[in-house]
Amino acid sequence: MKKKKRIIIVSVAVFCVLLIAGTLCGLLFFAPKLTLTLNGGDEEIEVFSRYDDEGAQGKYGGGLISYRDVDVSESGYVDTDKIGEYTLEYITEYKDKKLTAHRTVKVVDKTKPTIDCAEEKITVYRGKKYIASYTAKDNYDGDITDKVKEEWGENSLILSVSDSSGNNASVSVPVEYLDDTTPPEFYFLGDMNMYMKVGSVFDEPGYSATDNADGDITDKVTVDGSVDTSEAGVYTITYTVTDEAGNTSQETRRVTVVAPAPQHIAEQPSGKVVYLTFDDGPCCYTADVLDVLAKYGAKATFFVTAQFPSYIDMIAREYSEGHAVGVHTGTHEFSIYSSVDSYLADFNYMQEVIKQQTGSYTDIMRFPGGSSNMVSRQFCTGIMTKLVSLVQEMGYSYFDWNVGSSDTQTTDPDVIYYNVTNGISKQSASVVLMHDIKPATLAALPRILEYCVDNGYTFGTLNASSPAVHHGVNN
Ligand code: ZN
Repeated sequence: MKKKKRIIIVSVAVFCVLLIAGTLCGLLFFAPKLTLTLNGGDEEIEVFSRYDDEGAQGKYGGGLISYRDVDVSESGYVDTDKIGEYTLEYITEYKDKKLTAHRTVKVVDKTKPTIDCAEEKITVYRGKKYIASYTAKDNYDGDITDKVKEEWGENSLILSVSDSSGNNASVSVPVEYLDDTTPPEFYFLGDMNMYMKVGSVFDEPGYSATDNADGDITDKVTVDGSVDTSEAGVYTITYTVTDEAGNTSQETRRVTVVAPAPQHIAEQPSGKVVYLTFDDGPCCYTADVLDVLAKYGAKATFFVTAQFPSYIDMIAREYSEGHAVGVHTGTHEFSIYSSVDSYLADFNYMQEVIKQQTGSYTDIMRFPGGSSNMVSRQFCTGIMTKLVSLVQEMGYSYFDWNVGSSDTQTTDPDVIYYNVTNGISKQSASVVLMHDIKPATLAALPRILEYCVDNGYTFGTLNASSPAVHHGVNN
């Protein structure tokens, strides 16, 4: 019995404990609660986009009390213009209860930059630096052109760039490489054919050189040659330049230093004057011509050549006997009129011969065929116009004639005599054209001189101060 009673007491005690525990649990379970729920979760949005916060809900209730909304206060902000991680805080309070929740909002840049290349295709000389024209822009970083990397390949240029958020962009531009086979080009100041008097100063007129691939390469030009202005002659200055691809250009400037024209200022004869002139010698008749002139005490002018080398010393005799000596031509080939250069080469040659014979250069000259000749046109149009002005610039006096003897057309001394005497009777100062290489002229000369003496003419020699008897230039 005692044992049975004890079991009942223990059972009642366990029941009571269970009842109390159950009641407490029930009270706790059904007791009103404060809750805070975020609308949505953490977020990630693109920079510059709009952010609308979805907020959070606070509620109080449960158990025997129905749920009610409770105010939720928010703090924190999201700067959608600036990349970063922002935290928003939500707080709800009811009576002595308080709940806090957080939301993380990431503002990110996931937009790729853009690269704009001005060229659709690049053509570049192999080995040359090419400055490609492009811009790179990013929605967040702005202009990031300076961050662009260039990768030059065999067929393309790859431009790539990353923005500060690691977004990559790249474009490929086709590239064609060219080999430079074009030689550089020179540009010269001044004339490539220069003419100077002996004793003048030569200053390099200037030059520049450019290359299709290398640009300005003037500093690579080498200049060879020099001009000795103390001596008549033809000097060449050679300009050479080579571009990086090995193409070479070369040009030459010719500087012709012309024998000086010493100015003989002689007294001019007055009254009726005859200037007898003899062209084309000296030759086999010249000595006799000089003898005849000496016999009549007549002075003349010889426009000499070097056509007959064995008689060349007659020039010295002409000069020593008081006659004037002028340049005619070295060769008497009309091809000397091919160019100013070829004319001056012949001219300088003859001046040197005259200097050897007489001890000095002469300042008077006569063009082969005269300044009015048209034969020069077969060789070079306009050459006489150039030469007439050039020789005068150099200080020379050129002479044509106003009385022709026609001794190149006739072998009859009578005709020559008639032409000369008839011609000189028509003006007070006559420049008579004759040739000491014509035997008929030698034959006519004594009678011509007699006529002059008998009729009161004075014989003059030509010099820089003599009347400028010039024909009109026809070429
Ligand atoms: Zn002649």
